Amino acid sequence: MAIQWYPGHMNKARVQLEDKLSLLDVIVEVVDARIPASSRNPLISDIVGDKPHIIILNKADLADPNEINKWEAKLKSDGKFVLKLDAQHNTNMAPLFKLIKLAAKERIDKLEAKGASNPTIRICLVGIPNCGKSTIINRLVGRNVAIVGDRPGVTKGQSWLKTSESVQILDTPGILWPKFEDQAVGFRLAALGSIKESVFHADDVALFVMEYLKENYFKSLVKFSRLSEQSVNELPLPELLLAMTEKYGMRDDYEKMSLFLLNQLRKGRLGRINLEKVEA
Ligand code: GDP
Repeated sequence: MAIQWYPGHMNKARVQLEDKLSLLDVIVEVVDARIPASSRNPLISDIVGDKPHIIILNKADLADPNEINKWEAKLKSDGKFVLKLDAQHNTNMAPLFKLIKLAAKERIDKLEAKGASNPTIRICLVGIPNCGKSTIINRLVGRNVAIVGDRPGVTKGQSWLKTSESVQILDTPGILWPKFEDQAVGFRLAALGSIKESVFHADDVALFVMEYLKENYFKSLVKFSRLSEQSVNELPLPELLLAMTEKYGMRDDYEKMSLFLLNQLRKGRLGRINLEKVEA
């Protein structure tokens, strides 16, 4: 697998985030609710350290409701602040603002004890590409698209986006890189479009997805395949892929069929599906 580019980028992202950490009151990590572990950065907990840390399980509209609830419970039991979100369709950010203030409570209490009223909380969104950081920032900022300039000595070189609440957002989200040592993680990320497709062959990713669906979402796979339950059950996966390719009138172009399957999966056309479950 082509992973040579990973350490340099990872290191840069880490250094950039570490540089900004002292300016921030709360770190908001955005993950894809369909792959909550694979879409996390392996070093994020080390980097964030003791800072209040929120995890947003985003794209909840596309994820399996049962699985998201299990992930939510698991992450909460690990001591994280967690919020399920559909940033694409949901404009009500009140629950997120509330959680940010809860996470920053210690800081707010401290500032209020010094006489500040309604002190400003500064946050940064971080996450791997395509998990929805920009969408969430736009939702939080709403119509208040005002960039707050530098405050000399305090926020050197940084711009902050205002919101309707006493929360300001670092204007550029922190882009983090996922872990790659496990090939299944790479397949999950590729399946949902979070890493460049060119890293993998589409048919390898499609076969990986089909295997997972066969085991966990059999009915969805049967429906999508346009084949019988028996065929889906009995055909070896590469043959099943070919049979689907023919069924969809793509002759023997299984690459095209693979890309179609992945595209439909990403859009939620196979139903609300998680490619990753909480390990028992
Ligand atoms: P970023 O790279 O982390 O900044 O991700 P973006 O905010 O650019 O989002 C990537 C894609 O996911 C865009 O097409 C968004 O419209 C879409 N998206 C973001 N959040 C959600 C969500 O909660 N549900 C769905 N269905 N799509 C989302």
